[in-house]
Parts: sequence; C-alpha cells; structure tokens
Amino acid sequence: MHTEVAVIGAGAAGLMAAIQAAQRGRRTVLLEKNRHPGLKILISGGGRCNLTTTRTGADLEAQYGLARGRFLRHALRSFPPTALREFVEAAGVPLQEEDLEKIFPVSQKARDIVDALLRLVQRSGATLRTGCAVRGIAASGTGFALDTDLGPIRADSVVLATGGLSYRKTGATGDGYAWCRAMGHTITATWPALAPLLLDAPWVTSLQGIVLQGVDLAVLDPSGRERLRRRRPILFTHRGLSGPAPMDLAGDVEELQGKAQLEFDFVPELTREALDAHFVQEAKVRGARQVATALPMHLQERVRDTLVALAGAEGTLAGLSKVARRRLVETLKALRVPVRKSLGFEHAEVTRGGVALDEIDARTMQSRKQPGLYLCGELLDVDGPIGGFNFQAAFATARLAGLHA
Ligand SMILES: Cc1cc2nc3c(=O)[nH]c(=O)nc-3n(C[C@H](O)[C@H](O)[C@H](O)COP(=O)(O)OP(=O)(O)OC[C@H]3O[C@@H](n4cnc5c(N)ncnc54)[C@H](O)[C@@H]3O)c2cc1C
Repeated sequence: MHTEVAVIGAGAAGLMAAIQAAQRGRRTVLLEKNRHPGLKILISGGGRCNLTTTRTGADLEAQYGLARGRFLRHALRSFPPTALREFVEAAGVPLQEEDLEKIFPVSQKARDIVDALLRLVQRSGATLRTGCAVRGIAASGTGFALDTDLGPIRADSVVLATGGLSYRKTGATGDGYAWCRAMGHTITATWPALAPLLLDAPWVTSLQGIVLQGVDLAVLDPSGRERLRRRRPILFTHRGLSGPAPMDLAGDVEELQGKAQLEFDFVPELTREALDAHFVQEAKVRGARQVATALPMHLQERVRDTLVALAGAEGTLAGLSKVARRRLVETLKALRVPVRKSLGFEHAEVTRGGVALDEIDARTMQSRKQPGLYLCGELLDVDGPIGGFNFQAAFATARLAGLHA
C-alpha cells in the first residue's frame, strides 16, 4: 500500500493530525494498534475529558515551564484554547467552564469528544485502520517504509503520535521513542508526571480522606531550594497524597530521584509574624482554650490536632511557651516531609521527557533529523499541569504536524 501521509497512533494527537492532513487533500492513513481509538481521551478527566483551559497567551505558555513554553509558543498561538474550543463545538460538542479554569463537555461525556473527532476523521477522507500495530519504521528513498499488521506500507510523510509511557493499558508503550532514536533523535529522560505521591510519614496517612483547600504545597530539592509551588486542592490518601497540587508536583519529585521534600504552608495568607501575633492575642483573650482551637478554621479539626501534636504544642493557649509557639508557627508555615516517588507510570496521567525539542521545528513539528518525519503530542518532551494543558499541547502540536506533513 502507498499513502501520502501515514499517521501512527489514534489518540488526541493522531486524530487531529490525520484530520488536518486529509482536509488539505493529502491521502492519509491513520494507524492505531488498539481496537478502539482515543482510549486515553475516554478515561480523561474521570471520563469527562478536561479538554482545555481558559488560560491564554504568555500565562498559558508559562504553565509548561520556560523552555517547553517557548517551544510551544507558535503551536499555542496559532491554535489557542479558544480555537480548540471552537473546533470541538463546531464538531457538535458544546463546552462549559468549570472550577480551576477547566473546560469540559456540557454533556460531561468524554465519549462525545472521541465521537466528534471520529466524525471529522471520516468527513476529512482519512482512512482509519484500528487493530493495526506498526512494528517498525525506516526512512527509505524519499519516504518511509512501515512494517505493520496490515503488511508493508509506503508513505511520503509520517506523523508519529504514539504518546508516552503513562497508562500502558491505553496503548502507550513508548514505541515511538525507539523509532525516533533510530532516526537520530535524542530522547530525554522520561519520568511519570501528574501522579499521586507516595509518602511514609504516619501523620500523612493518618489524615486519609481529608481534602485541604487554600494550602500551599511546594517541592524542594535536597539543598532546600524550591522547584515548584502549588495552591490547589490536596487529598490525603492511605498511601500519601493525591489531588491537583500533589499530582502537579510529581514530575519534579520523580526527577529528584528519592531526594525530594515537600513543604506545606497551611496558612499562605499570613506571615510568620502575623501568625505569631495571632497566637499571642488568642492567649490573652481565650487563654483557657486548647491551642488547636486558635488554628485557622479553613483547616479541619483533625488537621489542626495533628499540626499541634507535630509541633509539640498541646495544651491551653495560656500555657503555650514562646518556644512552643514558635514551633507551631514554623509547623504551620513550613512543615517539611520527605517524599520518595510517585505511584509511577501506571498511575501517571502524563510522561515528562521525550523527544528533545531542539531537534524539532517548532513551526511545523518536522524533525530536524529526518525530513518528512513529524512528531506531536505526548511523545515530545512536553508536559503541563492538571487542567487541560496536556490535551491543549497535544492538539496544537498535532494540528501543525497535520498542516505540514
Ligand atoms: C487517567 C488520565 C486522565 C487524563 N486526563 C486528562 C485531562 O482531563 N486533560 C488533559 O489535558 N489531559 C489529560 N490526560 C493526559 C492526556 O490524556 C494525554 O496528554 C494525551 O492523551 C496525549 O495524547 P497523544 O495522542 O499524544 O497520546 P495517546 O493518547 O497516548 O495516544 C497514542 C496512541 O498511539 C497508539 N500507538 C502507540 N504505539 C503504537 C504502534 N506501535 N502502532 C499503532 N498505534 C500505536 C496508542 O495505542 C494510542 O492510541 C489524562 C491522562 C490519563 C492517563
């Protein structure tokens, strides 16, 4: 079989790339090894698919970090979240904004997004072949030779959209990395990202079931330098921490390879001095009451008791010594706890690391190592925080690949 464009992988990126290439009139084949395309879209956002974000411009780019944000600038400016929303709504899926600047289908069904993309694939004229694994790819003459379950396929251009390593059961097994490496690309170290964190500290697991809001969580390197800070919900679990803030920090925790620490600021709105003055004042007016009653009320009773115990500040407010008060303030403002790792790729929503970005033309997604080869989606060394940023990057990079392949 001969085709002009072969797109490998029918996840978010591959579906978009195939639609764009075929709409330009390019004879396009989309090859997917699973029986069903878009499995990761289906399980995303708890089955509701957090498609994108309301953030825009430089603020949006900054969410991916400095270098990755710079690489994504052209993709995100030529296909910003507003354009992705219009694209999906025009395909028949009304969207709405929810908490944390997230965009979801009004129907709350990720299935609707997949169905809409499949309708567009069909209308574009691209041929989708499911249950067709690509086993190998090699540059040959002016094009590529693909070894597939359907037999050999010759393609003038290839778009690789095979994803990363997270959630293997959805088909992400890292096949694209080996092919890229063989074609001269560098693959940066890969780590699980956006995954729950594993913590041993008994006080953490004792708070299982509690959700904290309005608390800062930061990841620190072994020298105590802060790498990333988040003020988003934190869920205590029987294994450690989950929820948006801890999951956002997982990539950095993994990169620190067992040497990371987390730091909680339970009262980010108050300085140490203001907090200290608050306890002094409370001791004057309500000296007979327990110390825990003077802790900020956005913290649940179990959390307040735990923090007071960790600071060794139990007893009445009047009986609180200056030293114990200082320890309590420090516990509330900068409680540190070691964190070894996340729950790993099986629980990671995304892969940090991938094909090195300086080897890809950011305006077209074409490889600088192999003409005719285009790379997009999670396969690239790009990852963003929770909030629709990973689909946004996948769709925007895939659109460019499809427009140029
Ligand atoms: C549980 C979970 C929830 C998530 N929720 C969100 C969310 O709400 N919002 C958000 O922005 N992001 C979310 N993400 C991240 C998002 O799903 C990914 O960033 C995005 O799906 C990446 O798209 P992709 O097309 O690059 O890769 P993938 O979706 O992984 O697609 C790659 C495709 O390539 C196929 N493939 C691989 N190798 C081969 C081969 N050899 N031959 C043929 N086909 C092959 C795979 O089967 C797969 O279908 C979530 C991820 C997970 C795991």
